[in-house]
Amino acid sequence: MPISKTDFVRGLQCEKMLWLDAHAPELKIIPPEVQARLDAGNEFGDKAMGIFGAFTETTAYREDGRLNYSQMIADTTSLLAQKTPVICEAAFTWYGNFCAADILRKTGEGYAVYEVKNTWRVREEFIADLGFQRLILRKCGVRITGSYLILRGDEPPEGLPPDACGKTAEILTHEGTTYRVADVTKEARAAEQIAYNRIFELGKLKRKDACMPCVSIGEHCQKPYPCWYYGHCSASQKEE
Ligand code: SF4
Repeated sequence: MPISKTDFVRGLQCEKMLWLDAHAPELKIIPPEVQARLDAGNEFGDKAMGIFGAFTETTAYREDGRLNYSQMIADTTSLLAQKTPVICEAAFTWYGNFCAADILRKTGEGYAVYEVKNTWRVREEFIADLGFQRLILRKCGVRITGSYLILRGDEPPEGLPPDACGKTAEILTHEGTTYRVADVTKEARAAEQIAYNRIFELGKLKRKDACMPCVSIGEHCQKPYPCWYYGHCSASQKEE
């Protein structure tokens, strides 16, 4: 079964999480503060679309309100053929595996890929996400000239440790918000190989006949993200 970049990052954290997403999503409980953070992240991402000036967004919906992936992929193909300078939510598929890049920016003979995150630091899971995108985009024939994270550019909270990776490429201000663009090309290139090694194996977990992976609760339930199935897993573990 094909997977998305969200599936990929969640599957890297815990295979059982990905299995539950596919087979028993009704068991998840998203705390209101987490939902608020997700909503803030979406808002931050929407605002960041304009940081490189005029852009074209491919997001398209079906009549029932779901995303129209095939329309988005067709529009992206046509925008790339026209050498469109900035494409947002550029959509690609490879063997059914799907990703939409937050921002593609035309640079030289190819495109730079940007992933937007409403936080200050480069984190491993963001690199994994970009590695997945690089894999799909390159398999679709896109020449990638660099991989970047667009992060918050305001002063980070006190005590936040400095970035372990990702040198600052640009500081940009758009509509009153400051953004830090971190160059993670080298790290994302390495993550692409991990994506290639794991993509089909993780996809198998989404198959109808896939058995639930046997994973006990542990540190991985909180890192990098608190798992929304924690209540379910801890209750079933107590019963065993
Ligand atoms: S609670 Fe832990 S073991 Fe259960 S799905 Fe989530 S990460 Fe995996």
